[in-house]
Amino acid sequence: MRELPPTAGLPLHWRDLAGSHASLSGCLARMLGVEATLTTCSGTAALVIALATLSADRSRHEVIVPAYTCPLVAFAVAHCGLSLRVCDLEDGGLGMDPGELASLCGPRTLAIVPTHLGGRVVDIDPARRCAARWGAAVIEDAAQALGARHADGTPAGMAGDIGFYSLAAGKGLSMYEGGALVSRHPDMHARMQSAARELAPARRLWELRRSLELLGYAMFYRPRGLSLVYGRPLRRALRRRDVEAAAGDVFSARIPLHRVGQWRQSVAARAALRLPAFQQALREQAQVRMDRLRGIPGLWIAGDADGAQGTWPVLMLGLPDATTRDRVLDELWHAGLGVGVPFARALPDYACLRGIVPGQAAPHARDFAARVLTIGNSPWLEDAEFARIVAVVEHACRGAARRGPAGFIATAPATA
Ligand SMILES: *Cc1c(COP(=O)(O)O)cnc(C)c1O
Repeated sequence: MRELPPTAGLPLHWRDLAGSHASLSGCLARMLGVEATLTTCSGTAALVIALATLSADRSRHEVIVPAYTCPLVAFAVAHCGLSLRVCDLEDGGLGMDPGELASLCGPRTLAIVPTHLGGRVVDIDPARRCAARWGAAVIEDAAQALGARHADGTPAGMAGDIGFYSLAAGKGLSMYEGGALVSRHPDMHARMQSAARELAPARRLWELRRSLELLGYAMFYRPRGLSLVYGRPLRRALRRRDVEAAAGDVFSARIPLHRVGQWRQSVAARAALRLPAFQQALREQAQVRMDRLRGIPGLWIAGDADGAQGTWPVLMLGLPDATTRDRVLDELWHAGLGVGVPFARALPDYACLRGIVPGQAAPHARDFAARVLTIGNSPWLEDAEFARIVAVVEHACRGAARRGPAGFIATAPATA
């Protein structure tokens, strides 16, 4: 059976497995216009190393993250023994609400983590202003945004004090599990490098496991292989009504920390040569397909901050209300077309994060979690398949319009 991926990762070619002489860290450094980058065993590990570096010499212990983000971010904060503060999303957008952010910041704030969710570039100026006022650091979560740019041309991930990227399966460039950590301050880079040496030593068994998984990724990350490794477990989770498993949100609180071996790095370095062209193709495909979605009444389409240029692993939509979103998911989540959600819930609503995430209102994040839908922007998604998705979304939105406005977005004009 044919199965499309939920996000458009860069597929590996067999010849990538022969590796390359170029270093991954050098490749990424050139892309990002920085002296050097640190390769880590995951995006989460990169965040752990960043937080550990920052907290080494300060009395601050609070980390502010958006209330809708990857649950691994919360685990990373807890792993470092720091306190999590969640900031609601802004009304009708993906950034943190600037007013709430300002009220959360204070002398105990260690870091603020603005997040480019789904490759959409958010404005990080509010985070920078708060951080400057209180002497905190800005860590840009560019896990899904390697290759994106802010409006002034700065690469996403390079506009704060520290930035990190995920090289996990399905997140653009991948070495199955991996990450990259950057800072535009050379002294910060050096301190993170020594923290990484200490926190993430070589572990042969982990590297062996990840190497086999990378081979599996090369083999199965294609429409035929994915039905076995992604589609079957997905449909099993949906039959159990386990939305967290279906969204891929079931994580262990124990974060593996180890060095990444040369072979996996060299595979990713070779694949990285194809990344710019791949991302350009995704961008063009996204533009055309967003135009098609724009005419649908009541549908909100996530775009970038003014002038910014994101990456396009998915098209991210806000349906008019939760009922409508769930109707679309009922029809499409199991259908092998790459339709799904970024994360199942807002952070305060995960049972696995109780004790880590303070119970908090976060109404916009909760509303967003209930209405968001993603369409994987894979080049494998054919026009006829996309048309089938659009038909379902359009039909559901028309039903919602008949039921009347349900929230701010139902009455707001669609924006890019
Ligand atoms: C995937 C992701 C992470 C974690 O990256 P891993 O490489 O999976 O550890 C962090 N933040 C966001 C927004 C992500 O999407």
